[in-house]
Amino acid sequence: MPTATSALLDALAGGAVRVVDLTQPLSERTPVIQLPPPFANTPPLSRRTLSRYDENGPAWAWDVLELGEHTGTHLDAPVHWITGRDGDDVASIPVEHLVGPAVVVDRTAEAEADPGYLLTVADLEGFEAEHGTLPAGGWVLFRTGWGARAQDPGAFLNVGPAGPVTPGPDAEAARWLATEREIVGFGVETVGIDAGAAGGMDPPFPVHHHLLGQGRYGLTQLANLEALPVTGAVIVVAPLRLVGGTGSPVRALALVPA
Ligand code: MN
Repeated sequence: MPTATSALLDALAGGAVRVVDLTQPLSERTPVIQLPPPFANTPPLSRRTLSRYDENGPAWAWDVLELGEHTGTHLDAPVHWITGRDGDDVASIPVEHLVGPAVVVDRTAEAEADPGYLLTVADLEGFEAEHGTLPAGGWVLFRTGWGARAQDPGAFLNVGPAGPVTPGPDAEAARWLATEREIVGFGVETVGIDAGAAGGMDPPFPVHHHLLGQGRYGLTQLANLEALPVTGAVIVVAPLRLVGGTGSPVRALALVPA
């Protein structure tokens, strides 16, 4: 008698469901956010060799890592932001929230014309008119084409004279996503879940403020969103179960119907 999991395995083996990697490669060159003084910055990834099949370990190779919780493709837990300080750390997130439906809001053309493009409530309502209500328990992935810049720190961070110029929600869209819908998370291709201009919004960094304050999660630096359907994908987000962690690098995958 087939079970739901055996049906999924058959679909994977037969190609009816594909696995898409939503994770950017993580290396010493992976860009990290650059905060202005006086704020502390996160380090990029660095590695120190313990052994390489040598006198320190003749049959094995292994390294020590240094990296920030918020380095590369990563999850923001509610406790990352002051509004979510009484919420879940990354180890406490219910695992049911880490597997769910994903919908893709595509503003690639708009972000190409205006790299500082701001996603609005009207955009989201227009999406819902065409594709249905944002799924309860699901993830909204904001596709902008920004992933094409991911290996070029200058183009990826895109810092101009007035600060970073990257797309993201405006303050009202951030509030709406966090309070008007029952999504569990919001994912982006850029270095952070807020737009580059978000420091000047009211409240500052409104996606962090509202989404994390409502106990939801952020997901950054995603890859391959162009390989996902608008609706119908299942996302699997796998952060480290880091006790007290404010976030974690993740491997993010999507299961996509052929
Ligand atoms: Mn973060």
